Amino acid sequence: MTDRTEALRVIRDEILALADSPLYEYRVKNKYFPVVGEGDHFAKIMFIGEAPGRNEAKTGRPFCGAAGKVLDELLAGANIDRKDAYITNIVKDRPPLNRDPLPEEIEAYGPFLDRQINIIQPAVIATLGRYAMQYVMTKFGLAAQLDVISKMHGKSFQAEAQYGPVKIVPLYHPAVAVYDASKKPVLIEDFKIIKSIA
Ligand code: URA
Repeated sequence: MTDRTEALRVIRDEILALADSPLYEYRVKNKYFPVVGEGDHFAKIMFIGEAPGRNEAKTGRPFCGAAGKVLDELLAGANIDRKDAYITNIVKDRPPLNRDPLPEEIEAYGPFLDRQINIIQPAVIATLGRYAMQYVMTKFGLAAQLDVISKMHGKSFQAEAQYGPVKIVPLYHPAVAVYDASKKPVLIEDFKIIKSIA
């Protein structure tokens, strides 16, 4: 086992035991799993979503429901093999009724995401949706450059991580294509940008 796999396993075990998380009781009551992340531990590209939905919480796998189907199509369209990327969320447990994550939930799980980024050391971080965009841009000292996602998507921002340079590319959340088909071509183009940057 690589050091990275071991370090990620420690994170998984800590999240499994995270009884003081605001979402822990809901997880246990519903027999859900936390969704820690999956993919290549040496991935060049890391995708960061918002929080697991019902399908994800039932299986413990990120993006395996309706939004995941769109994500898989977008990855295929950009010639990115899902297995070569690392896919995770800011919030690792499902918020009730798929509501937006609360600030205290982002605060509870954010440090785990920070550690995952430092372990995997991606060259490109693609954020999916505005919560991941706000969290990651702020974490890397780029809060002053934040704007609405309709102005940010597909742009690349240079940042300095603990391990070296990283490019941050905000993207729309794949779920928007489920209810607004006009966003799909935009997402398709943005995913190609990710591939060309990486
Ligand atoms: N939406 C997300 O943001 N993450 C998932 O894992 C699934 C749906």
